[in-house]
Amino acid sequence: LINHPLDCPICDEAGQCKLQEYAFNHSKGKSRFDEEKTHKDKRVELGPNVMFDGERCISCSRCIRFADEVAKQPVLSFVQRGDKVTIRTFPGTTFDSEYSMNVIDICPVGALTSIDFRFKARVWEMSFTDSICPGCARGCNISIGVMNNEVLRAEPRTNMHVNTYWMCDTGRLAVPDMVNENRLGAPQVRRGGQLVDVSWDEAIDAAASALKGLKGDQIFVFGSAKASNEDNYLMSKLAHDVLKTGNLDFIKHNDHTFGDEILRLNDRAPNAIGAHSVGIAPKNGGHSVEAFGGRAAHGSIKTVIVLGDDPAGVSPELAQALAGVDNIIVIGSHNTATTKLATVILPRSTWAETDGTFTNTTHRVQRFEAAVVTKENMRSMGMKMSRWDKFGAPNDRWT
Ligand code: SF4
Ligand code: SF4
Repeated sequence: LINHPLDCPICDEAGQCKLQEYAFNHSKGKSRFDEEKTHKDKRVELGPNVMFDGERCISCSRCIRFADEVAKQPVLSFVQRGDKVTIRTFPGTTFDSEYSMNVIDICPVGALTSIDFRFKARVWEMSFTDSICPGCARGCNISIGVMNNEVLRAEPRTNMHVNTYWMCDTGRLAVPDMVNENRLGAPQVRRGGQLVDVSWDEAIDAAASALKGLKGDQIFVFGSAKASNEDNYLMSKLAHDVLKTGNLDFIKHNDHTFGDEILRLNDRAPNAIGAHSVGIAPKNGGHSVEAFGGRAAHGSIKTVIVLGDDPAGVSPELAQALAGVDNIIVIGSHNTATTKLATVILPRSTWAETDGTFTNTTHRVQRFEAAVVTKENMRSMGMKMSRWDKFGAPNDRWT
């Protein structure tokens, strides 16, 4: 440890570093070591997502054991001896496991850092909110790190019944982009062939006009395996009790290349089981997603409501069918192939901006909380805000 550099002011781990905590609690506050420290490589990419700093490593071997025992990719090893000892990948290999970034969490110091997150924020400037990864039906428990009302990172939260201590790199890297990128802003209505920004009242009026006078079987409602149980429940109530349609279903998002034997599942949506259990299914002679194309081609469907999904982006057949209906009302959070066809767009919060629940593959109902402030949640949900958020920031949509 005498060779450990005094990197704390520039180290991503500062604020959550075990060594820093021990030094703070137990050291004399001054080093008696006057000699030149041993220097090692400070920027070694062990894989596409993990950066290694040899000087900060305390040779605990946690990362080596993780790569071998959990990720099943035993490519990390100690090399050299004495105070020259360091970590390397075996020649000709790279640490590119789908679970590689978990070593960043288990490294007790800042020797392993995220290439994606490096130098973006100090830990104490961020708020951390309990959430659920929406990347697949496992529903890994995560914590969302936010600064200046912007999602900067996700890290796993321990739940021995779901994800134990880990999450996959795909989920971890996707979470910030799912909230920050390609978002819908204002409500929009199609006028003269173009989508134009309008007020909420105008958009809701346009949606009501698109539904007025139609019989139930002229309407098709897409619930969503990507939306919460609460949103799907309200959509099923709207379909059954107000619109009187049984044409209600959701799209399944199966990817047979994604699943593995650790956490990842082929079902890439977080809430297919929940959507079905709160009533998103054809009823009273209503039609399924599979029958939707044929119904639309016959002109039987006049208006489609899409909640939180992108049917046109999922399959060319659905895109063609949607292009043939009179009105498409999209209640969505992102610009998609379906919003390009929409008649009315009602922008909605992502799961990171509201409270709700997903039901995972084992039927476990898991709660997520709002991590980001919007006008709608108005800081009213007992949110854990970071220090900077409390004072508002230019991109804080609440101020
Ligand atoms: S987990 Fe961190 S401190 Fe421990 S051996 Fe690996 S790089 Fe070094
Ligand atoms: S295994 Fe699924 S739920 Fe877990 S982190 Fe990966 S994508 Fe997200």
